[in-house]
Amino acid sequence: MQTAVGGYTSKRTALNICAMTTNQSTHHSRPQPKGRHHIVVGDGITAAAFVAQCDLASGDTLTVLGRNASQLGRGAAYADQDPADPWCYAYLLNSPADDIDPAFAVWLEQNWAGLRQKMEGRQPNWLGAAQPLLQRGDTFGLNAPRAFYGDFMQEQMTGIYAGLQARGITINVVDAQAISLEQLPNGLAVTTDTGDVLTADSIDIASGGPSNQRLPGDDGPFSAPTLFGNEARIAAHIKAGAEIFCIGANATMLDVLRLCQSLIPDDDLNNVACSPSGGLPPPLVPRLPRRLTTPVLTGGHATAQSFLDEVWAAMELARLQGDEMREIRAGFRAYFIEHGLRYFVPNADQARLVPRTLRHWLRGGTRDTILDFHRLMKLGKCRTLGGGVIEITHNDKGAQVLTRDKAGNITAHDTGFVINCAGAGQGSLYDPLTTQLIAQRAITVCDVTGGLEVGARCMTGVPNVRHLSPATTVIGDEVMPMPLYDAHLLRTWAGRAYQ
Ligand SMILES: Cc1cc2nc3c(=O)[nH]c(=O)nc-3n(C[C@H](O)[C@H](O)[C@H](O)COP(=O)(O)OP(=O)(O)OC[C@H]3O[C@@H](n4cnc5c(N)ncnc54)[C@H](O)[C@@H]3O)c2cc1C
Repeated sequence: MQTAVGGYTSKRTALNICAMTTNQSTHHSRPQPKGRHHIVVGDGITAAAFVAQCDLASGDTLTVLGRNASQLGRGAAYADQDPADPWCYAYLLNSPADDIDPAFAVWLEQNWAGLRQKMEGRQPNWLGAAQPLLQRGDTFGLNAPRAFYGDFMQEQMTGIYAGLQARGITINVVDAQAISLEQLPNGLAVTTDTGDVLTADSIDIASGGPSNQRLPGDDGPFSAPTLFGNEARIAAHIKAGAEIFCIGANATMLDVLRLCQSLIPDDDLNNVACSPSGGLPPPLVPRLPRRLTTPVLTGGHATAQSFLDEVWAAMELARLQGDEMREIRAGFRAYFIEHGLRYFVPNADQARLVPRTLRHWLRGGTRDTILDFHRLMKLGKCRTLGGGVIEITHNDKGAQVLTRDKAGNITAHDTGFVINCAGAGQGSLYDPLTTQLIAQRAITVCDVTGGLEVGARCMTGVPNVRHLSPATTVIGDEVMPMPLYDAHLLRTWAGRAYQ
């Protein structure tokens, strides 16, 4: 089967890959391509960035191998959606468009007429929420639907593929999952879930972060273990008037609110966001003229705590000077791109202690939805709850959620339908390739940050294999001060892998 993307696609059938070893006679085998063969595994932002950076030359071959490689750039976050679903385009980017990617902000403005048409009549009223920004000419500040960012990325890839082809590079696109990686005497081999074996000289793996953590009872008649892919089932409960109980108060919880708003009027909403802190992230509100906090921090801290004290003082000063979370978050992000944590906290063990605090301090989320949540709290339609969820049980009419608060008190909450929005944690799984590399200790799970640790330039312990994920927290001797669950940071580090 062949699919075409921007005229540059060939599928497995067009791939010239040879059989590597005789004991793989059950696999499909292909003749070896001429020149170098490089594979990028994944179909999201990071894979797209690796493709854009790749150092291939005329006569070389690039294969993009992803579950949805023919829509490279969309990945898990910016997936295409079915316009027939009421929740189509409901999920928004967490930051103003120009903080995600200045080129995307320009694209948004250039394509405004068509995008506006797509959003007309949709609930929640995104165009209405956009009005104050549009009136002051700030299209760049909008929290765009994530699917639009996927559209933009796909368009970008058409240009990038054309550039690679103009350099004489052959491009193959394979929609399949990589399930294992093998080192050969003269290279590497990747086996796919379709039974193909692709040999290569080098591989960049960009297979995303771990799955949602699991909680006892989160997959039952009145619960879903994750939002994405379960919308139709959840929608039936929302429309039936059930209280919707989110475990977690992060970006996915905000997506749940958007899902509910796409299905029922605000007056009928009944949403709970339960998290250990019981709080919501601050909204990232863009202001004009756009500006960034410009921290100036001293290097050479002996401990993480002394560095964090200085960061806190710099944030307090910024707040005193009138900066809000958008300016502070984007400013610190830009500063830490220029200045690595190694300079500030040279001791690697101490540096590893920084992100778990800093990630909370620099947290921010989707303006539209957070402001909506606060408005709806005042109307008694949404509420937050402090506590960690222990388990969910089910009865004839709904679910019961057991939570434990900071003092250790356990409380039972009767509710309608529970959605696990807790993010990665206990019981989370990586994709098969990452799991294999962790098992082989070719990449490690850092026991302090909990994230993935790779070598300089994202190199793994397997020669010529790179790995970069939103869950990566250590790259060579640099500890990431802020989480890489951020399109701009992932692009930055993918670029550095090729410098
Ligand atoms: C729902 C959601 C919303 C987000 N919103 C934002 C936002 O608004 N702004 C922001 O900056 N960041 C956001 N993020 C953070 C996001 O993780 C990064 O911005 C970025 O999209 C991650 O890209 P990625 O390519 O590393 O991973 P992913 O987007 O997860 O892509 C990895 C892809 O690889 C494929 N894959 C996995 N394993 C294999 C395999 N073995 N073989 C072949 N293919 C495989 C998967 O199907 C997946 O699509 C969001 C993340 C999620 C999940």
